[in-house]
Amino acid sequence: ETMYGLGSKSSVIRELFAYGLERKKVVGEDKVYDFSLGNPSIPAPHEVKDALLKLLEEPAEVLHSYSPASGDPKAKQMLAESVNRRFETHFSGDNFYMTVGAAASLNISIHAITNPGDEFITFAPFFPEYTVWVENAGAKLLITPADTESFQIDFEAFEKLLSPKTKGIIINSPNNPSGVVYSEDTIIKLSKVLCKKEKEYGHTIYLIADEPYRELVYGDVEVPYLTKYYKNTLVCYSYSKSLSLPGERIGYVLVPDEVENARTVYAAVCGAGRALGFVCAPSLIQHVIAKCAGQVSDLSVYKKNRDLLYDSLSSYGFTCVHPDGAFYLFMKSPETDAYAFCEKAKKYELLLVPGDDFGAPGFVRIAYCVTTAQIERALPAFEKLAKEYFA
Ligand code: PLP
Repeated sequence: ETMYGLGSKSSVIRELFAYGLERKKVVGEDKVYDFSLGNPSIPAPHEVKDALLKLLEEPAEVLHSYSPASGDPKAKQMLAESVNRRFETHFSGDNFYMTVGAAASLNISIHAITNPGDEFITFAPFFPEYTVWVENAGAKLLITPADTESFQIDFEAFEKLLSPKTKGIIINSPNNPSGVVYSEDTIIKLSKVLCKKEKEYGHTIYLIADEPYRELVYGDVEVPYLTKYYKNTLVCYSYSKSLSLPGERIGYVLVPDEVENARTVYAAVCGAGRALGFVCAPSLIQHVIAKCAGQVSDLSVYKKNRDLLYDSLSSYGFTCVHPDGAFYLFMKSPETDAYAFCEKAKKYELLLVPGDDFGAPGFVRIAYCVTTAQIERALPAFEKLAKEYFA
């Protein structure tokens, strides 16, 4: 029954996307401004195609056979070296477990550390699938309400949710849907609170870093590498956004040696992968990312889109959270009910996602990982929509 419930109702985002496809058939492809999905619009770097073409010359048994359950040792070693080069860390391939995207990395990490009755805490606004994954592991997800001024962490609210039942904290920065990057100050403060609570409760509290947007930052914004601030951190990464490869389903879980009982935790990660069927990530794409680790798609289009959208919507009277990263703009709904606002936006063929499902009612998410031309075409529609409220 639980699974029927999950499978029979689609998310607001998926419904909006499906509505957009139907609407395009009626009014024309370029007259619907779909900002619903976080599907990268920029191509993967040419190195990905070059690597793929080269790999196709390799014998089939190299390309298409099962890798070990935790991933190809050479690929894992290449990833470790890439992370070490960029973040001055000291990982080896043995710290990595290859997965089909961040969705699998998070599922595996949550399952690996959960006992029945455990609790996880995350920070609104948050990726709605966390609830599904945490509950599927037999745990409960508690939500720290958003600090709607800074979109950093509201520590007073967070500390009220911590208890001896707390097993893990899930953090996502750069954030979907706010586009905010948690500052180093925020991370230091979080780490201090968790260390204090670990001592008080006498057990480990894991920090699960959900990082598919790590490289998507604009200007000289730094995204602190969390394993350097808090030792019991598990990193969940994917190449869906940084290499524009969401359909290839490739990512990893990283369990640093510094984690309390690290090899036991890593074994539990392997066990969760086994129990969930997330073993032997696709071989071909593991070989590709081994060659392209550390590369990033050309982000200049996202930066241009971010600036154009933020500046234009602000000038029309809308209030937006300034996004330093990811490819989402989080805008305050000019009426309390964001659903009602999104319905009004549909009149102008603008497809925006209400923030309610992300735990931030009164806001809407605009995914700007679209062509700049789409944004340029959509601006007059946004301006008309603004006039309904601010004229
Ligand atoms: N976490 C966040 C915050 C996301 O936005 C997404 C996808 O959009 C995921 C996890 C899942 O990533 P993947 O497509 O690599 O499974």
